[in-house]
Amino acid sequence: MVLDQPQHPLQVRDVEKPRPSKGQLLIRIVACAVCRTDLHVVDGELPDPKLPLIPGHQIVGYVEEIGEQVNSKFKVGDRVGIPWLGWTDGDCVYCRSNRENLCDRARFTGYTIDGGYAEFTVADARFCFHLPDRYNDVEVAPLLCAGLIGYRSYRKTGDAHRLGIYGFGNAGHLIAQIALFEERDLFVFTRPGDHATQQAARKLGAIWAGGSDQMPPEKLDAAIIFASVGPLVPAALRALAKGGIVVCGGIHMSDIPSFPYDALWEERVLTSVANLTRRDGEEFFKIAPRVPVKTDTQTFPLEQANTALDQFRSGKLKDTAVLVMDAS
Ligand SMILES: [Zn+2]
Ligand SMILES: [Zn+2]
Repeated sequence: MVLDQPQHPLQVRDVEKPRPSKGQLLIRIVACAVCRTDLHVVDGELPDPKLPLIPGHQIVGYVEEIGEQVNSKFKVGDRVGIPWLGWTDGDCVYCRSNRENLCDRARFTGYTIDGGYAEFTVADARFCFHLPDRYNDVEVAPLLCAGLIGYRSYRKTGDAHRLGIYGFGNAGHLIAQIALFEERDLFVFTRPGDHATQQAARKLGAIWAGGSDQMPPEKLDAAIIFASVGPLVPAALRALAKGGIVVCGGIHMSDIPSFPYDALWEERVLTSVANLTRRDGEEFFKIAPRVPVKTDTQTFPLEQANTALDQFRSGKLKDTAVLVMDAS
C-alpha cells in the first residue's frame, strides 16, 4: 500500500521485493498495526516524508534472508518486531550520549524509510527486536509503537504516584496497565461525554475517570498527554500538584493556547517525548509479558488499509487496527 502524495488514499501496487543490503534483514511481514502517526503522515501533518512511501512502523514478521555483516542475534525463521526508529548514525552528539532517539540523522520506519503496509520489507538488524513468546503476531503488533513510545513517556514521570492519562487510546490503555501493575493511582481523562471509555478505564482499575474539561478529585504528580490536542496542555498543568510533570507523548499536536505562568510555576515541568531508543524497547518487552499488557485489536486485510485509516481518523475504530498480510 503506497502513499504517492499526502492527503490522498494509499494505492495498492506491486513493487519489487526488497533485497537486504549490508546489516539488513529481509522480513516476510505478517502483521502491521496502525498508529496515529501513520494518519499524521498520510494526512500531510508531518514534514518531508519519503515519497512514494510504504507507511507502517509496528511491524511483525519473520526473517526470510540475512544480509552481510548481521550479528548472530537473528536467524532465518525468527520472529522479529520492527519499530519506528529504523536507523541512526551512531556517532552524533545525541547517539554518543545515550539519546539515539534524538539522532540528527535518524531514519524512521514508515516515514523516511519504507515500512510495513506490505508483504516484505528490509530492516537494519540492530534496530529489530525479538518479541515475547506469550503474544501472537496480531496481539504483539500494537505494542511496537504505542507500547514503546508510551513506555518512554511513562518512564519520564519517574516515581509519580498519582498519574493522569489524557487520551485513552492504544498507548494510554497500554501504559495504564503498567502503571496499575506498579501500583500507581490512575486518573483517566477522555473526550468530554465519552462515558463508555471512562467506564472502561474504571473497569481496568482507574480510581477516577472523567472528561478532559474536568479537574481530578486530587492533584496529580504527573500527567501524560496521548491525545494530539494542544489545549490539553494547560488543562493538564492545572491538574498538577507542585513539582509535577506533564509529558506530551505524541509526535504532533495542535497549537497550545497561551496560559498564565501560574500554571507552570512551583517547579512544574512540561516536556515531550520523541521517538524511542533501543533500550526503551528492551525494557518494555521485559515488563510487558509480566503485567501482562494486553490490547484489543481489529484486523483488516492489507488492501483495506485505507478503510482502517478512515475509521481511525473518524473515531469509529473501537480497537487498535492491525493489517494482516495473509487474510485469505
Ligand atoms: Zn546520531
Ligand atoms: Zn507510532
